[in-house]
Amino acid sequence: MMIAAILDKARRKAELSVEEIEALLSVSDQEELKALYDCAYFIKEQYVGKIAYFRGIIECSNLCIKDCYYCGIRRSNTKVERFQMDEEEIVREALWAHEAEYGSCVIQSGERRDEAYIALIERAVKRIAEATKGELGITLSLGEQEEATYARWKKAGAHRYLLRIETTNPALYARIHPADHSLEVRMACLAALRRTGYQVGTGVMMGLPGQTLRDLANDILFLKEIDVDMVGMGPYIPHADTPMGMEVPAYDEAQRMAALELGLKMIAVTRIVLRDVNIAAATALQALEYTGREQGLRCGANVIMPNVTETKYRASYQLYDNKPCTDENSSMCRGCLSGRIKGIGETIGFNERGDSPHYRRRTEG
Ligand code: SAM
Repeated sequence: MMIAAILDKARRKAELSVEEIEALLSVSDQEELKALYDCAYFIKEQYVGKIAYFRGIIECSNLCIKDCYYCGIRRSNTKVERFQMDEEEIVREALWAHEAEYGSCVIQSGERRDEAYIALIERAVKRIAEATKGELGITLSLGEQEEATYARWKKAGAHRYLLRIETTNPALYARIHPADHSLEVRMACLAALRRTGYQVGTGVMMGLPGQTLRDLANDILFLKEIDVDMVGMGPYIPHADTPMGMEVPAYDEAQRMAALELGLKMIAVTRIVLRDVNIAAATALQALEYTGREQGLRCGANVIMPNVTETKYRASYQLYDNKPCTDENSSMCRGCLSGRIKGIGETIGFNERGDSPHYRRRTEG
């Protein structure tokens, strides 16, 4: 089927098949790419508007019990200097985000499931919620946990949770993780998060070795099937000190541009298929090109996560090579991002939590 016909179908709100989604992801002709991005932007304007919401991300620890073959902070990477913020530091950075008029913060870390960590997060979330009178949205991105833990953190004041499925292809999932990391457990965690009442976000990495466009088309259909509220996905970028990174040389310019294009196409097609969800323009897009996240907004994303982590910790939270802004402080991130977003004709939802219309529709009927 011609790309124009598929896009026309999407504009008329018809469901797209896996073959049609794959066809959209395979576009490489410049005019067709423009038509794809324009269609995604048209749908974005209709369903979520031209507002970019900020979530200040606090990377509060790089201690991790997992050993994912792609990730720079995996347990077995002995080159990483490990850190753990204390409660004061986490709360201070969340309050900085609140004062900077970001509507929400995201607390992210490597994975830990011990009681000391669970209680630390619980206390920090409670203090942030109280100090900001519930105004600041609190999203967590702390990996796989027991349902009771998700419930404790929810009760403390968190209301959104991000847990990427990474890929829905079981064979690919098995290739990029050690044998004791399980796709089924991830799926079960997403179900537990939904039961616990969170706004649930998930997503995948694109450009993984051996991943096909059909895999990515299936991933998008999975996001639709489990009825997610938010999508956080980003290009895979090798990290030199990981098993997967060691197998390939660092990306050259052409590979970076190809990874960026695939990342933008995934955002566009996800917007076209899922319509009213929040979609984040991942920081990894900026690692590929300086304006990558703004390009993500132009292709259908509506959320950006400026880093509010204290500068001294940033170099130790390198998930992939060339992670941007590691030598900047939070004010610099706010200033340069705001200017660039206004430059593309969008407004910033300062002081707004920016829940996805999908979540509101799902819960309010
Ligand atoms: N521990 C939590 C979890 O697993 O959800 C949150 C932290 S984890 C580092 C956040 C995300 O980083 C992962 O879901 C993964 O998609 C992404 N990530 C890790 N290594 C990456 C790489 N080399 N390239 C791109 N994204 C990567």
